[in-house]
Amino acid sequence: MAIYNFSAGPAVLPREVLQQAQAELIDWHGSGMSVMEMSHRGKEYMGIHAQAEADLRELMAIPANYKVLFLQGGAHLQFSMIPFNLLRGKSSADYANTGEWSKKAIGEAKKFCNVNVAASNTDRNCTYVPAFDTWKLDKDAAYVHYTPNETIGGVEFNWIPNTGDVPLVADMSSNILSRPVDVWKFGLIYAGAQKNIGPAGLTLVIVREDLVGHADPRLPTMLDYKTHADNESMYNTPPTFAIYMAGLVFQWLKKNGGIGAMERANIAKADLLYAAIDASNGFYNCPVNKADRSRMNVPFTLKDANLDGDFLKQADARGLLQLKGHRSVGGMRASIYNAMPLEGVQALVGFMNEFASKHG
Ligand SMILES: *Cc1c(COP(=O)(O)O)cnc(C)c1O
Repeated sequence: MAIYNFSAGPAVLPREVLQQAQAELIDWHGSGMSVMEMSHRGKEYMGIHAQAEADLRELMAIPANYKVLFLQGGAHLQFSMIPFNLLRGKSSADYANTGEWSKKAIGEAKKFCNVNVAASNTDRNCTYVPAFDTWKLDKDAAYVHYTPNETIGGVEFNWIPNTGDVPLVADMSSNILSRPVDVWKFGLIYAGAQKNIGPAGLTLVIVREDLVGHADPRLPTMLDYKTHADNESMYNTPPTFAIYMAGLVFQWLKKNGGIGAMERANIAKADLLYAAIDASNGFYNCPVNKADRSRMNVPFTLKDANLDGDFLKQADARGLLQLKGHRSVGGMRASIYNAMPLEGVQALVGFMNEFASKHG
């Protein structure tokens, strides 16, 4: 039986990538050792690291005046590193509040600066993207932070806020590499790796060079982007195996047509799943405004929550795993990242239709 893993993160990885890692695990390219056992200063690992960065730069068309940093600490540590590094003597920053992850970023930033919540969707239970003409931006803000894809609520921007000269900062943890983005429109992009990049333990930061080098010198060295930018992310020991795995994912993306092809596949998968929800006569419901529905994380509820347990048990028995919704939203959530094949979504939709006709 085919198994399909709909976990929100850590999440499904491409089967071919896992197979390649397995084949190379004990003896990487005749080196006599595993990538896990190599010095990060040796030429083998340095080659893996440089190739991963080069492939990511090519995939995302990252301009030369941006640094790519391979860090640790998750997206959570970025919630504080961003104000530490980007305030640059200013006292306030603008944040859009569009769901659970925005709220966490805001909560952390409030420890270090004034946060102006420039836009919010809490009036309708975080189910839509606030139109840009309602945003109350402060032209003196140090930066504008937003969350292009709210992993828990399933709300995704299909446009990029134009913040003029104020640097735009994006938490792309759950939709990076799922669609083309104009990197040059951003001051900083960050993402925990464990949704669309690779295994947990790696955090990716893409930052415009002029925003590096302004951290308060009293801060810990490790929290200054300059430390990592000046040392090719090797100031300390980087998460070598996670970077190697991310590199394999980047090669897999290149082999499969790059991010444009990924976006087309992601649209097809998301359309199929939302169509099944919308055609169920209310048996299934997705609360998110149609235009703002996430292509990566699809939350939905059953009309009768008493059926949730049965739904999950029967889905499990069919090899459709990890569909339970986040505790703050309830119901179900299907995460359908790049590595989820169309067949997985087809199997899910088949099961959902069957379950609805039995219980509807
Ligand atoms: C998962 C997630 C996070 C948290 O990432 P960690 O790596 O666990 O810190 C933050 N933001 C978004 C949008 C996420 O999806």
